[in-house]
Amino acid sequence: MTEATNESSTERSLNFIEQIVEDDIASGKHGGRVHTRFPPEPNGYLHIGHAKSICLNFGLADKYEGQTNLRFDDTNPVTEDTEYVDSIKNDVRWLGFEWENEFYASDYFEQLYQFAEKLIQKGLAYVDDSTAEEIAEQKGSPDKPGTESPYRNRPVAENLDLFRQMRAGEFPDGAKVLRAKVDMTSPNMQLRDPVIYRIKHAHHHRTGDAWCIYPMYDFAHGQSDSIEHITHSICTLEFVAHRPLYDWFIEQLAIFPSRQYEFARLNLTYTVMSKRKLKLLVEEGHVSGWDDPRMPTIAGLRRRGYTPGSIREFCDRIGVAKRDNLIDVGLLEFCIREELNRTAPRVMAVLAGGRPDEQPLKLVITNYEEGREEIMRIENNPEDPSAGEREVPFSREVYIERDDFMENPPKKYFRLFPGGMVRLKGAYIVKCEEVIKNDADEITELRCTYIPESRSGSDTSGINVKGTIHWVSVPHAVEADVRLYDRLFSVENPAADDRGFKELLNPNSLEVVRAFVEPALVEATRSGSLTNVQFMRKGYFVLDVDSTTNRPVFNRTVTLKDGWAKEQKKG
Ligand code: ATP
Ligand code: MG
Repeated sequence: MTEATNESSTERSLNFIEQIVEDDIASGKHGGRVHTRFPPEPNGYLHIGHAKSICLNFGLADKYEGQTNLRFDDTNPVTEDTEYVDSIKNDVRWLGFEWENEFYASDYFEQLYQFAEKLIQKGLAYVDDSTAEEIAEQKGSPDKPGTESPYRNRPVAENLDLFRQMRAGEFPDGAKVLRAKVDMTSPNMQLRDPVIYRIKHAHHHRTGDAWCIYPMYDFAHGQSDSIEHITHSICTLEFVAHRPLYDWFIEQLAIFPSRQYEFARLNLTYTVMSKRKLKLLVEEGHVSGWDDPRMPTIAGLRRRGYTPGSIREFCDRIGVAKRDNLIDVGLLEFCIREELNRTAPRVMAVLAGGRPDEQPLKLVITNYEEGREEIMRIENNPEDPSAGEREVPFSREVYIERDDFMENPPKKYFRLFPGGMVRLKGAYIVKCEEVIKNDADEITELRCTYIPESRSGSDTSGINVKGTIHWVSVPHAVEADVRLYDRLFSVENPAADDRGFKELLNPNSLEVVRAFVEPALVEATRSGSLTNVQFMRKGYFVLDVDSTTNRPVFNRTVTLKDGWAKEQKKG
């Protein structure tokens, strides 16, 4: 099941969260103030799902003249790392957003601890010596009430004393927990005396060894929102059942009344979206790293050639849903293709696979003087006249794509064949006179003649040819590596599939080929003035960081074919 909407940013109506915000502003709630936050846990790199949340949170603040905090939800010392903190900041900025404040939940550890003591003093929290299994047992199942812990009615003074000892490091990991005293009979399992503090003698990336007890997500998140006076705390649907608890803490502690709102998380076809799974892909070596261009991470998409604008456009088009769905990755590809069609300069590159029948064909123009060279001027982007022209050297020998020639062509084949004519883009019409083969009967060369009066821009030949093909002058060609990326997974929804990565991964998600490219392209990329390009008739490509001065490396962002738009028309 896939779902996508066709609404464009300018004409779409308010999404349900914008509607809530507008109602709140109208009623004067919080003095009409809008303050959101983006709260990543620094345990991995951000992915396109996070981009959705970022666009939503920062987008609301932009639209309603509010503010957005970047808050690192760093309450779990063992999985977190400053490498992730840095990458997250970099990715949010790259997407085009700037936060009002950079905060860390760990900065609130003392305040959160005080909140916990306050609950104890109000008789609303207790130290429990039960094991994790015993607590799970007590909680029972949604269809029947739970049972109370034998420690539930410990006196306040004893709880306070034990909790202080927990903080002081007197107990080993797992010996005790602090639980909120809510309601063991509630049909909402989250309210059955949730654990709010646990003992963990672990080093924290920011607080070091200052703490050996850490608050649980539910005790940290809402209170952090409240401390920062967040007005609209937006999270994904799996937290719907946590909302009563979120509200309960705020009410019992009588602190700033932040409110939580939930929307559907973004799922995308042919990929996975959980940091845990993405981390596994990296650790098991299925990809080259978090920024592998096949990864749905922001870093991976950037390296693949996606622009911030195309990702924001995608997030805008998918809208804000209230029910979980699976978005066609074709929509994401559509967004970058649309942008690059407008902005990417066209260049000529002849790709060469590994097999002999994938090698480029050398075309020798026998009536073109040896040693002669001409500079052709070819427009950079037919969609954008202001993009100007570039100079492309032409000579007696050029490379063409292997599949732009057929020895025995079918009807309506408009490219080159023995005796046939074709235009070399921006240059001359050539006629194939002779096919040269080696002992193995493989074609090694085409002998052609050119029509001198047919030069593009001043063609007086009167000859009409149907086909135009791209080419690269042999003596001027620069060799490059080209990475042709395809979907990382071969199944539409790998997250819903129980089989392991080995069975689900697309074995052909990366093919590396050689290419011969125009020299202008290399000069421009070396000077940093060019990143995204269209290889004419082949797709959109981007220069990769692995490039060296002598050997550029290009990643294919997307092909030119637009499967997604076609599907939409059909449907
Ligand atoms: P993951 O399961 O990938 O680790 P997470 O929710 O644990 O995701 P966080 O770092 O806690 O990751 O998420 C930060 C914010 O981004 C949260 O508000 C979360 O709701 C939101 N978010 C995470 N994944 C998605 C998604 N796929 N679609 C929309 N929002 C998401
Ligand atoms: Mg999380």
